[in-house]
Amino acid sequence: MPRTPLALPQLLERLEDFYGRQEPCWPTDPYLFLVWWYCGYPASDARCSRGWESLEREIGTKPREVLAATPRDLAKALKPGGMVAELRALRLKELAARVKDQFGEDLRGALVGSIAQARKILKTFPSIADPGADRILLFAGLAPLPAVASNCPHVLVRIRRGLERENYGVTYKEAQQSIAEEVPEKFDARIRAYLLLKRHGQELCKSKNPKCEQCPVRSYCAFFAGSLRGRAPVP
Ligand code: SF4
Repeated sequence: MPRTPLALPQLLERLEDFYGRQEPCWPTDPYLFLVWWYCGYPASDARCSRGWESLEREIGTKPREVLAATPRDLAKALKPGGMVAELRALRLKELAARVKDQFGEDLRGALVGSIAQARKILKTFPSIADPGADRILLFAGLAPLPAVASNCPHVLVRIRRGLERENYGVTYKEAQQSIAEEVPEKFDARIRAYLLLKRHGQELCKSKNPKCEQCPVRSYCAFFAGSLRGRAPVP
């Protein structure tokens, strides 16, 4: 176990001292987030942002602007975001059509209400599962859920418990549980936790070969203290 246990709010302070204050680089409106998400493939902050900037410049992001563009022009605008631009162009067309026809151009308004119903609606969009739905609801200010970045649920699990499980779903739930228990159920607190843990997972606590020697919270990390939870070391 770690030499010195530290409450999660204090751990987050250490991460914030190290990385600085974090801000989302994506739009927080649910419809615009989905547009941004389909602007890059494989999805990453850098690729989605490159595709988004190009789309904004060449076509626009409003449903009517996306619907008015030809599939060819749309795909051309999405090219800076990476692979399968033609498929992503079709996805954008479908998204814009659904938001216009089913939700009167107000997807956010359709998500106000029960969390279960909002998750159900969001998961009808391609590539959106529970982590994506929770992220959208948190950042849109619709529900202060204990969302965890889908590509780094292992970060908090390593700090708190030791080596993460092989099963992604189990690791994701363990990370969510820690946030639910230790981070106040408030939008700003949970958004801050999401962003700092995501940044740490991208910079040092990578899924493979974490750079523990450079880590600002290694003294408080169960993984660094040797907790492998009954399993062999990470190869
Ligand atoms: S010590 Fe290593 S495993 Fe623990 S949080 Fe830091 S980088 Fe991740």
